[in-house]
Amino acid sequence: MKRLIFTQNSLVLLLLIVMLKGCASLVLNYKKSNVIETYIDLNSVENDQLIITLDPEPFPAGEVTFYMPSVIPGTYQYSNFGRFISDVKAFDKKGQPLVVAKEDANTWKIVNGKQLDRITYLVDDTFDSEEGKEVYPMAGTKIEKDEVYLLNLHAMVGYFKGGKEWAYRVTIDSPTDLVPFSSMESASHTATQDVFLADRYFNIIDDPILYTNDDSVSFTLDDIEVNLAVYSPKGVHKATDFKETLEEMMQAQKRFLGNANTTKSYDILLLLMSMEELQHYGGMQGALEHHTSTTVTFYEGLETDSLKEYLVDVVSHEFFHTLTPLNVHSEQVHYFNYNEGVMSQHLWMYEGTTEYFANLFQVQQNIIDEDNFYGRMSDKISRAKRFNDNMPFTEMSTNIVDEPYQANYQNVYYKGALINMCLDIIIREQSGGTRGFLNVMQALAKKYGVDTPFTDNKLFDEIISMTYPEVGAFIETYIQGETPIPYKNYLEKAGVTISETEKKLQSIIMIDPRTPFIAPKPNKAGSMDLAVKGLNNRLEEIGFQKGDLIRVFNGTEIPELSQENMGALNMLFGASFSWLPEQKVTFEVERDGERITLGGTVGIAVSPAKGITALEDATPAQIALRNAWLH
Ligand SMILES: [Zn+2]
Repeated sequence: MKRLIFTQNSLVLLLLIVMLKGCASLVLNYKKSNVIETYIDLNSVENDQLIITLDPEPFPAGEVTFYMPSVIPGTYQYSNFGRFISDVKAFDKKGQPLVVAKEDANTWKIVNGKQLDRITYLVDDTFDSEEGKEVYPMAGTKIEKDEVYLLNLHAMVGYFKGGKEWAYRVTIDSPTDLVPFSSMESASHTATQDVFLADRYFNIIDDPILYTNDDSVSFTLDDIEVNLAVYSPKGVHKATDFKETLEEMMQAQKRFLGNANTTKSYDILLLLMSMEELQHYGGMQGALEHHTSTTVTFYEGLETDSLKEYLVDVVSHEFFHTLTPLNVHSEQVHYFNYNEGVMSQHLWMYEGTTEYFANLFQVQQNIIDEDNFYGRMSDKISRAKRFNDNMPFTEMSTNIVDEPYQANYQNVYYKGALINMCLDIIIREQSGGTRGFLNVMQALAKKYGVDTPFTDNKLFDEIISMTYPEVGAFIETYIQGETPIPYKNYLEKAGVTISETEKKLQSIIMIDPRTPFIAPKPNKAGSMDLAVKGLNNRLEEIGFQKGDLIRVFNGTEIPELSQENMGALNMLFGASFSWLPEQKVTFEVERDGERITLGGTVGIAVSPAKGITALEDATPAQIALRNAWLH
């Protein structure tokens, strides 16, 4: 997953794909094992709710337990998808209702299981339900009759106790003018009905389906077929807008990965959100990885160029998940526990290696230059500082679904990537430049692959035996240990250093890349004021002081701070992001009970930052290591 306030994820299913779609032998295979007949009618939507019917094979005896997942791969949080289903009913063969007891948020029991023929329930979408805010949009469902359906089936279809390995035949009746995009095996397709086959419950989660108007493009990367489907509510963005950028980028990724990639096809499902939806999710955008697809959700109002940049960022990350965890993962990932958070200690790899490679390939393949790459790594160093730098990464990983670990999750994209950068430099140094961390991952992918998990607590020993004692020392001290990484020591091996520098801020109202200069402050009248809590060079020049209460912002009186005015306030302050440096601006603040007018030009606001730069007096050995690392 990759989230931008954002997210990501990953996983397995090659056997199915090798077979021709809808071939007879495939159907036979399905008859051999248990198959859950699953029905969804997209035409019968009421209040954005759908009816789901699951018809399993008869149960021999006893009580039947039905689960909705609580945790799904790639999200590293409890989502409790049970909260989106209601009115769960069970029926016997004659259509007579059976008693259903709800055990907990995600569990239902049918006492007289032997009589059970089928269960039905209503499912709500996450895009406009209050509870839906709590899950990631890229892992959510959107049900908008005759317009668009984002079916992340883990929020719609559950599994039976003992039945995680049972197959599903998913029959979906759909409006005639919408077409499905999915990496799930298709058994048949007509204008009004699709039948999909899921090998096991895992595939229900791993293969989301997007029903939309037919806006898609395809291209091939050697033997991988890539499809991009786009839903843009106002029709602002088209799939063709992104084809060239994505194709170029993914070609470079394929070159970088070499034969470590065995995926046959890859689907990118891009659902663009309205401002209302973006706010519903608290600004969350991003993507969730799957073995042969990714679901991407972004704000539709982004300019095409920004959207391209974001797409490159998240799709490159998601596509590299085909390396890990798809081809290199532990038992905890392979036999995923959907209802208890049983996690692997190797998030430093699943997310960290993925994120690091998503940046490294760009400099190696000449998509970005060295300075750009250094900028990205120094940004990660700055961002990593906002998290607990003494929390061992392995401990965080194992406990990631619970606090205080969950609050540090985002650090997998920052410190997680930097861990890999250091390992890469160590291996380059020790091997005289001939090997890097990618070689280690390629070897692991070859050894394990899609179907064979490694033992969680054996991986480090294996990596050390493939590399050098220095790698072992690093793992022990900085991945398993509490010691913060001295990045400078590793970078200097490659003739690169960290120094103090300044970073241009995107707006004058920011004091660092993530913090605005104002914050709500309760007043005596029982409401809130907006008070200045920090300054940057421009705000100081204009005359702001800490503690000032903002009354007028560039000509507009500040409205009362209330839920209803949030949109207006966002618009008001958001406008500052497009101000030009030479533009004149005025403000009114209240200071010690007096109104004061302030004004000046916008200029260029900066914040202090760490910068990574090449050492001017680097030795030939340092330069050689740097070249081996980045080129
Ligand atoms: Zn990810």
